[in-house]
Amino acid sequence: MSQSATLRHQLNAIPEEALEGRNFQVYTQRDLDRIEALSNLPRELRFDMEVVASVLPFRVNEYVIDELIDWDNVPADPIFHLTFPQKGMLSPDQYERMAAVLRRGAEQPEIQAVAQEIREELNPHPAGQLLLNVPKDEQGNRLEGLQHKYRETVLFFPSQGQTCHAYCTFCFRWAQFIGDKALKMATTEAAALHRYLRSHKEVTDLLVTGGDPMVMKTKRLASYLESLLAPEFDHIQTIRIGTKALTFWPHRFVTDSDADELISLLERLSDAGKHVAIMAHYNHWREMETPIAREAIRRLRSTGAEIRTQGPLLAHINDDADVWATMWQKQVQLGIIPYYMFVERDTGARHYFEVPLAKAWQIYRDAMQKVSGLGRSARGPSMSAGPGKVEVQGVTEIQGEKVFVLRFIQARNPDWVQRPFFAQYDEKATWLDHLKPAFGEEKFFFEEEYEAICKERLG
Ligand code: SF4
Repeated sequence: MSQSATLRHQLNAIPEEALEGRNFQVYTQRDLDRIEALSNLPRELRFDMEVVASVLPFRVNEYVIDELIDWDNVPADPIFHLTFPQKGMLSPDQYERMAAVLRRGAEQPEIQAVAQEIREELNPHPAGQLLLNVPKDEQGNRLEGLQHKYRETVLFFPSQGQTCHAYCTFCFRWAQFIGDKALKMATTEAAALHRYLRSHKEVTDLLVTGGDPMVMKTKRLASYLESLLAPEFDHIQTIRIGTKALTFWPHRFVTDSDADELISLLERLSDAGKHVAIMAHYNHWREMETPIAREAIRRLRSTGAEIRTQGPLLAHINDDADVWATMWQKQVQLGIIPYYMFVERDTGARHYFEVPLAKAWQIYRDAMQKVSGLGRSARGPSMSAGPGKVEVQGVTEIQGEKVFVLRFIQARNPDWVQRPFFAQYDEKATWLDHLKPAFGEEKFFFEEEYEAICKERLG
């Protein structure tokens, strides 16, 4: 170990062995029987997992199993819920359909057919991702693997980054992981990305996303990002990288064979004047507790990159103001910026994880009241819906009517941004399409224009 590394360990009091490399050992649905920690759980619970994992993607690694899950607290443990399939994730009817074929030992094609049928019922691509957001080149060809929903931000889905070090049970991009090519948004084409960015000077932000782009080798990531240092890309001011590797595989930034290369790539981008923002996905403060996770954060910050955090509010995992307050406080303490509290999206196992908007707002508010000013940078609760990102700003009464106060944080039409609008209060509503305009209005102010945009895009 180098002298500076030794000094760093002394300063941070992190035992060296806690930062040692680990082999990346991953388990999927086929390996459920090989996970030793599960062997102590009741047989039915394991069968439930098998049923759900036959429909929705499942992937976990040994670091998560050994160091993040508190097995004395299973099944209630939030990290267990975050990564292991739960019976309630399917409706009773869906569960029974899959359980029946598994119980009678059906062949794979039949199991796959039932899985497919159930997946179709789970709204695999919410908010028109597949149809509405994919841009076209000058010849009118769709640029698969890119999304351009908001004027200044382009999303890029490199195909080697369309998996994660483990999968979240509630993942809103689950459809990408089930091997259905029609649902997969991805490209390997660096040239197409660069061509598109070159001809769209209004774009200031590139978001590299997945899956998790941090599963890619550094060389691959560099092949997409280094070209952006050329003067023709001066308009790209910010490079955001969405990742959950700080939780699921912090070794990526510390001990993996190309971790140092990754750190210097980020340094080069920052030094050249790009704002590098690591958009870290967190759901619980426990994800930041291990020494390796803290070291990964420290190394990333040392590059000049900024870490901003986001994640959905989820029943069974973090529907508690204290959990959010503790998480935001710890993030501030570690030099990370709390950025978003999202509402669980309308896809996949949403019914199991969703929290009504009224309760979500209450949790957000209570958590905000418990943290200092620097912890109050998180926006929310915010729905990433078809027309844009809609934030629930509060619940109030206007002229005798109880209403939700809403606003667009981001929108397909920039003119909608920050305009307050009102919906009838509904204690059970969990998503924008459950809400009705307040004060007897027939439609929300953006609806007609949004319908026109959809019509135009869908040709
Ligand atoms: S890290 Fe993101 S993309 Fe990967 S499984 Fe979790 S929510 Fe899905």
